[in-house]
Amino acid sequence: MLSKLRTLCLKGIDGREVSAEVYIAPGLPSYTVVGLPDAAVKEAKDRVVAAVRNSGCDFPSKRITVNLAPAEIKKAGTHFDLPIALGVLAAAGKFGKKAPARLGETFFIGELALDGTLRPVAGVLPMLLAIKGTGATAVVPAGNAAEAAVSGVKCLAAASLKDAADWIAGATELGPCLSPAAGAPAARPSRDLAEVKGQAFAKRALEIAAAGFHNILLVGPPGTGKSMLARRFSTLLPPMTFDESLETTKLYSVSGLSAAGRLLHERPFREPHHTISDAALIGGGSSPRPGEVSLAHNGVLFLDEFPEFSRPAIEALREPLEAWQVTVARVRESVAYPARFLLVAAMNPCPCGYLGHPTRECSCTPLQVQKYRARVSGPILDRIDLHVQLSAVKYADWEALPDGEPSAAVAARVSRAMETQRRRFSGITRANAFMSGVDLRKHCALPEGASAVLETAMNRLGFSARSLDKILKISRTIADLEGAADIKREHVTEAVQYRMLDKAAELSAAI
Ligand SMILES: [Zn+2]
Repeated sequence: MLSKLRTLCLKGIDGREVSAEVYIAPGLPSYTVVGLPDAAVKEAKDRVVAAVRNSGCDFPSKRITVNLAPAEIKKAGTHFDLPIALGVLAAAGKFGKKAPARLGETFFIGELALDGTLRPVAGVLPMLLAIKGTGATAVVPAGNAAEAAVSGVKCLAAASLKDAADWIAGATELGPCLSPAAGAPAARPSRDLAEVKGQAFAKRALEIAAAGFHNILLVGPPGTGKSMLARRFSTLLPPMTFDESLETTKLYSVSGLSAAGRLLHERPFREPHHTISDAALIGGGSSPRPGEVSLAHNGVLFLDEFPEFSRPAIEALREPLEAWQVTVARVRESVAYPARFLLVAAMNPCPCGYLGHPTRECSCTPLQVQKYRARVSGPILDRIDLHVQLSAVKYADWEALPDGEPSAAVAARVSRAMETQRRRFSGITRANAFMSGVDLRKHCALPEGASAVLETAMNRLGFSARSLDKILKISRTIADLEGAADIKREHVTEAVQYRMLDKAAELSAAI
């Protein structure tokens, strides 16, 4: 007999409808899965056999063929267990000769434990979003109920294979998936920019970075507060919009990291260690998963000790920094994960860390310093709009410094500047950092006085044309923070100060 059920699979972070067909024919017992299954789908057999028997049913000792269609999409994951098991039961005649309507119309997702209970699976939210608005019903594991409720699709929660089978037969009803009770609003992060004394220049640069979504590099000796500042950076960013929230939550769902099934509202902050592999940073592997760059989508990726990351890892950042997504190639298909993150990188000025320190001596040779800096290649440096040098503060000076401005005050200015940009741009350009050449000409017209500043920067400081584009983008953000419609001379003068590594980079590129 033949049975046909509906289920879903993932392609990248999007769901696709899949039809699971099971055919049972007389003959020697065998079990074959066709339709581009991965290892986990092939292994489903052992779980399905045990789960069916432990649910009090017979597993037919015949020739069983499972077909997952369409065949061109690779089927990965363990969530096909439930539709396959139900398909076997249906093809064996468990639901009678005429299949109940519930069997053919519903989408089934779930991994089976050997005793027949259903286990939660990754990627439920993006899979369900594929059938949103179609009026279809889905049955999901009870462990995924909260996440399923977020999707807006009519979902029912089943605890076991038996529950799902009894529901199909009309012997029982399943409870709807409900959103988790709204708990107390997420506590504001305990970190605050006010805790970092001094470093006013770096704080201002971080404010500009947050407002225009500019990547930023902090350079300074150990103990100058680079990491402290970077870890407080997300407190300057407003919560995500609903669409951003959904995009980011989908990536976490695909990675099996969705937090208690809730939509993520706070922007992610990812801080991978410098020993991370390029695959883990960028995404990929034999069964592809989003990397740290995608988990930081719409949020912050903080790379401390930037030159200590492996060369392949640093170079692999080029694609997401240019295209805001990562393409993971596989044997038969490739998948793309969004990766629009704000990069905050921090590094020492030299291998020992004390170059330019007021009291400690640097033990590095000029060649060592040059080699160390060259680990961050020109094309990567070129994608970082703001370069900021932090200097060590003497204890006596530090003691005398007043407390810094609280994060909330800075965040309010950042929010206003972001709002201005939202009104200015539509589509993919969401912030000043993403402006194209056309946008630059349209939105960054310079008054007479400001052009003179740029000319001096080019002639005397040797800035390249590419650096000038960056200076224009930063000037635009500074003007937006001030609420100015046009870029003024002082905005450009300030922006020039955040390009201090340009000359060094051009020097090392020339060698
Ligand atoms: Zn040194």
